[in-house]
Amino acid sequence: PVILSVRELTADVEDTPILKGLNLEIRAGEVHAIMGPNGSGKSTFSKILAGHPDYTVTGGEVIYQGQNLLELPPEARARAGVFLAFQYPLEIPGVSNLDFLRVAYNAKRKHQGLEELDIFDFDDLVRQRLEVVKLDPSFLNRGVNEGFSGGEKKRNEILQMALLEPTLAILDETDSGLDIDALRIVANGVNHLATAENGILLITHYQRLLDYIVPDYVHVMEAGRIILTGGKELALELEARGYDWVREEEAVVS
Ligand code: ADP
Ligand code: MG
Ligand code: MG
Repeated sequence: PVILSVRELTADVEDTPILKGLNLEIRAGEVHAIMGPNGSGKSTFSKILAGHPDYTVTGGEVIYQGQNLLELPPEARARAGVFLAFQYPLEIPGVSNLDFLRVAYNAKRKHQGLEELDIFDFDDLVRQRLEVVKLDPSFLNRGVNEGFSGGEKKRNEILQMALLEPTLAILDETDSGLDIDALRIVANGVNHLATAENGILLITHYQRLLDYIVPDYVHVMEAGRIILTGGKELALELEARGYDWVREEEAVVS
């Protein structure tokens, strides 16, 4: 089944067009990577999927599991199983990581018609998931991302993801600034999640992450559109040749 279908999506930021007719389809069980030069609109796209208020959709459609995603408020998208790991994870001082995770987790359970987990059962579950991302349990009692290093924030995002088991996980440059050990841990968390039931969208500037998470499709984004789609080998070609040749080839085709 199709999880996400994006057709001719156009969007503005402060009256400047950023997305200019983006098309993408993600089916269950697929891992997609979007690569592309800085400023091509990758983060804009991921924020629009999450419902960020700074971005205005001006045309096209985004269908998530058969429903119009753009009509749903951000919280409803999250409850419906859309998860976005940010390029720059937010800090929420004063809210413990454990409480934050439990509220998010139980909101999703409720949405699924399941009973909330009590604090004891939740504690057991979260400790299991901590092992996937190799974070110390002491991180549960700190404010959300408060004083976490860059790598710890990314691992904390993957912890959230591992708990919530989203149907559509979007990771926007989760690999940037990670050392190789943290990168492996993040990749391991993502690979853990990649099942036949869900879709994963990895947005990355470098192909390094794709050494550890093998995508089914690699898309090149340029000036707000996907201009080329290929298999996992395309990432290596982009790493070796840059993006200019894609632009030139597209000019010949169109
Ligand atoms: P990428 O993630 O591919 O590097 P972005 O989506 O971050 O690209 O940015 C695409 C373009 O949109 C850039 O020119 C950027 O300056 C602009 N842009 C993104 N967010 C904002 C914003 N909140 N206000 C103004 N311009 C923005
Ligand atoms: Mg960028
Ligand atoms: Mg970006």
